[in-house]
Amino acid sequence: MLTRTSRFNRTPARSSENTSPSAAPTEAPAKIELCGSVRAALAEVGREPNKALGQHFLAQPAIARKIASVANVTGKHTVEIGPGLGALTQFLLDAQGLWLIELDHMLANRLQRLLRDFRHVTIVQADALAIDWRKFLRDKAPVTVVGNLPYNVATPLLSSLLEVPDCLERVVAMVQHEVAERLHAEPRTASYSALSVLTQAVATVRKAFVVAPGAFVPSPKVHSQVVVLEPAPERVAQIADWNVFRRLVRTVFRQRRKQLRNSLTQVVTDPAEILRLAGVEPTCRPEELGVDEFCQLANVIVEYARTS
Ligand code: SAM
Repeated sequence: MLTRTSRFNRTPARSSENTSPSAAPTEAPAKIELCGSVRAALAEVGREPNKALGQHFLAQPAIARKIASVANVTGKHTVEIGPGLGALTQFLLDAQGLWLIELDHMLANRLQRLLRDFRHVTIVQADALAIDWRKFLRDKAPVTVVGNLPYNVATPLLSSLLEVPDCLERVVAMVQHEVAERLHAEPRTASYSALSVLTQAVATVRKAFVVAPGAFVPSPKVHSQVVVLEPAPERVAQIADWNVFRRLVRTVFRQRRKQLRNSLTQVVTDPAEILRLAGVEPTCRPEELGVDEFCQLANVIVEYARTS
């Protein structure tokens, strides 16, 4: 999953000692306006928005404030993905420790400069897709992850974060409307997908609010939605082997209209027996199976492999 190469520079806002999660925001100014006007902030770094990096900057402080209020990061360790010009960041500064992961080095440098007096803030100039989250969050967990996510990376990014639900307090993400629908979807709906099952197997999903294209510079073509994912340890505990579960879900959804007795041949040698033991109709299609039924099926596969 972590395939992109990255320059992984962890640069504290003030000094290398600031990477400590216990670094408190003592003596730091409490507030700063990082992004009064998107155009003016871009002019500061001599840049136009970079489409390839999904740069649609939030231009309405009231919305950024609302996202921060949903995230409720006061006194918590917090990671923001894609801080950009800092529209959201400026409302996250009362976190206990704040790590900002930004791929665009010019924007990362700008934040580095503007936030140098905030000793609890660490700028990480890196590709968030290339981060080993378990390693990165080891000394920070549980963290709240916040981000107005670039459209092109939102799905793989959320998928990689959901691999470490035990490290997360909450994820508050602004995503494309269509991705929010998939995260939240129920069986037998067009949006129900591998992402729906893998997400709902480890977390509760709540749609917070919708944001119209006009709130961004430049405006995207579609509406965005803020979603809140909260890890549910009791659900995680139901899954005997996450790797088996993930492989099962991804494989069968590659052919969502195919009956399980056929698509399961790519996962197990005896689909008929596995389906019988799991109490699932052989003619069932993946889009008809609920999250609990996927858990049951994956657990039967694990048990069958162990005993046969
Ligand atoms: N948070 C800012 C806001 O709300 O205005 C910017 C949001 S903009 C939609 C996405 C940001 O993510 C951009 O700053 C972009 O440079 C950054 N970005 C894009 N791909 C990234 C990646 N793979 N890792 C980290 N940051 C990324």
